Amino acid sequence: MNQFFPVSQPSIGEQELAYVSDAVKSGWVSSIGKYIELFETSFAQFCGTRYALAVSNGTTGLHLALVSMGVQAGDEVIIPDLTFVATANAVAYTGARVVTVDIDSRTLCIDPGAVERAITPRTRAIIPVHLYGHAAHMGRLMAIAKTHGLVVLEDAAEAHGAEIRGQRVGSLGDCGVFSFYGNKVITSGEGGMLTTNDAGIYAKARLLRDHAMSADKRYWHTEVGYNYRMTNLQAALGVAQMERIDEFLAKRQQIMQWYRANLEPHPKLQLNYQEPGTKNVYWMVCLEMTGITESVRNDIMVRLRELGVDTRPYFYPVSDMPMYERAETPVAHDISGRGINLPSYTDLSKDDVRHICGAVQEVLFKMDLLQ
Ligand SMILES: *Cc1c(COP(=O)(O)O)cnc(C)c1O
Repeated sequence: MNQFFPVSQPSIGEQELAYVSDAVKSGWVSSIGKYIELFETSFAQFCGTRYALAVSNGTTGLHLALVSMGVQAGDEVIIPDLTFVATANAVAYTGARVVTVDIDSRTLCIDPGAVERAITPRTRAIIPVHLYGHAAHMGRLMAIAKTHGLVVLEDAAEAHGAEIRGQRVGSLGDCGVFSFYGNKVITSGEGGMLTTNDAGIYAKARLLRDHAMSADKRYWHTEVGYNYRMTNLQAALGVAQMERIDEFLAKRQQIMQWYRANLEPHPKLQLNYQEPGTKNVYWMVCLEMTGITESVRNDIMVRLRELGVDTRPYFYPVSDMPMYERAETPVAHDISGRGINLPSYTDLSKDDVRHICGAVQEVLFKMDLLQ
């Protein structure tokens, strides 16, 4: 009975080991080497975009994308209030104002109506976040952006392979950014990828990724660039993971079915939503309980941990954090305090999920939260 289930853990196999040791042995351990191009090519193909650019992580990728799309100090950028803080931080790095708006209660993604109401003459960009693996409402958002002359950057850090009517995220906005942190759908240790069909954005991002060094005059720079490069070692891990991504995505669907079979019979418990016409990749198993306070939610998490089941709380609203402006986002505030993420990694077995769900039910029964 000493089993412990973390929320997340990467699946690393023989191929990962083989490619990484090949990269080490080749001597190409920094940001030149065959695995970088291989990773970029396979990722662009996976997303269905013309271009993909490997970067040091998802946060630098978001910053690089914003700068490459022309976002600067004095602009306003609209983001959902419920997201990982990196979405907001990347905006802050540019000097633009972070404008947080409310979310849709079912998809947990940015509410297009709220985006429309937040637009001012200074608005420059929208960053929909495909939260926990569910694609944001890209059709409506792109229409709003077109009407108002805005650019759209998809924060797809949590949603590799998510789709809307058969089209993958990262190919739906002007630009997309993915993360390969250790707990994401696939990992390169740390790492990120920028995807776009726009040759101009790609060229600008590629230049700025490497200190904006002139293509025909080495060590000559015409603007302030960055070192946001990925290493060949990271890319080697990423290439091996790309070879298994279809298998990972299929397994995530299976794991979600197991969770649904165990927990959905309880009307008070709600698991991940999937909007018709979209494919959710279930990066995190999301469990929401109706009618509980945040402190009860926290108590549930402590008790689950005692039973060997690790969980994490939903993100807190960005607008509650001291460095950002406060915002009226009742939906984000309500849901944030009622949700937890359960173990969500691809190596979970059917028995593991049954065990985890047994612990969830045991805790909730003891707390008189389930009949
Ligand atoms: C993980 C994540 C990021 C940042 O990615 P890193 O690679 O960790 O920098 C950005 N946005 C969201 C929504 C994320 O979940």
